[in-house]
Amino acid sequence: MEQKDYTPMWESLGINLEAHDGLLQVLGQAYGDTFLSQGNRPKGMEYLDFVLSEIHGLRIEELLKAKQEGRSIFGTFCLYVPEELILAVDGICVGLCAGASVGTEQAETVLPRNTCALIKSFFGFKMAGLCPYTEACDLVIGETTCDGKKKAYEIFADYKPTFVLEVPQMKAPADRELWLGELTRLAARIEEVSGRTITAEGLRKGIATVNAKRAALQRLARLRKARPAPISGLDALLINQVQFYDDPARFTAQLEAICDELEERVAATQGVAPATAPRVLISGCPMAAPNWKVPAIVEQSGAIVVGEESCVGERGTRNLVAETGETVDEMLRNIADRYLQIDCACFTPNTERLDHIVEMARDLEADAVLHYSLMFCTPYLMEARAVRECLKTEGIPLLEVETDYSTEDMGQLQTRIQAFLEMLGG
Ligand code: SF4
Ligand code: SF4
Repeated sequence: MEQKDYTPMWESLGINLEAHDGLLQVLGQAYGDTFLSQGNRPKGMEYLDFVLSEIHGLRIEELLKAKQEGRSIFGTFCLYVPEELILAVDGICVGLCAGASVGTEQAETVLPRNTCALIKSFFGFKMAGLCPYTEACDLVIGETTCDGKKKAYEIFADYKPTFVLEVPQMKAPADRELWLGELTRLAARIEEVSGRTITAEGLRKGIATVNAKRAALQRLARLRKARPAPISGLDALLINQVQFYDDPARFTAQLEAICDELEERVAATQGVAPATAPRVLISGCPMAAPNWKVPAIVEQSGAIVVGEESCVGERGTRNLVAETGETVDEMLRNIADRYLQIDCACFTPNTERLDHIVEMARDLEADAVLHYSLMFCTPYLMEARAVRECLKTEGIPLLEVETDYSTEDMGQLQTRIQAFLEMLGG
């Protein structure tokens, strides 16, 4: 199907058209090489292919139409920002984390060079005029998770209206109260920006919508336990990435249909890789789209990724919000409780994460864990030591990878990953 010409829309958003054309070309090529070249993909992945092909087109058109109808758009970078509060005012939540090294030169004019690739990327996209999502936002919601992000938002506020949510670093009762206070402050700001009030009815609906989305993602995660695996790790990652951009109800319906198809595959013992393929659990930093480098190398080397202990993965979908509250305050408390269960390495201590890695590895029958850290990411690089010790005690093989978004280390990564997989086979 011929793609519509979105040039006037991008122009109206101030997108750098020439650079943007180049980006879309590179992305299209990378998508074809990484995803379309896979064999035996579930038919339902055609929906994801379509969403990706229209990620800067149709979806942006939808967002701008929604704005014209009086709805507000909120951009987020982290799992700690509750989408439920945004949906409660009929707002739209979009993830702005970026996974490509574009605009790095511009980003490095305002950020230190030794900043992680994820932060440089969202700055790069903004400064090079390449992200229609950022441009469409009414408010960007940041958070005080790692130091890099926390300080980066101070600078980002020069470019876009930015609200910073204080996330505690521990989980004691006083931290819980601080957290609840912060969510109350965020709720007030969302009301102010949208010009709408968060009602109990609206919040209940928001909670139900996000719970349904997470329940569908949990269903997908459970289906990946099957041997042979009914879906590649790359396709499952893509689904987890797209959930941050797509309309939540539409995404959930499409994902349920994919899961129906995967159930049939499991019943028929059909898979995307031989049952004997080494099974790998990836654990660590988030992999924002289009960051597919490491799982692509793993799967092109003959293994299968069966789970992601990551924000773009199970860390973000593990828990649902209790649907018990009647008033806005009660529901807000349920939301606060749910979000404080997330086991990001920004917390100390963070032993729950170690338990989750082991639990996932056992449950998914993973043969090994690949610990993935972005260069200069202090929280995950520091926490890698605890992961290493824990997995050694549990007797689970581990490969630690530290990388960025460039392609320069592809050859070296390939060699290391292939040698590790051979060792597992042996
Ligand atoms: S790793 Fe931590 S800071 Fe980064 S997106 Fe996940 S929860 Fe947020
Ligand atoms: S990858 Fe690490 S350093 Fe980068 S934003 Fe996330 S937690 Fe911070």
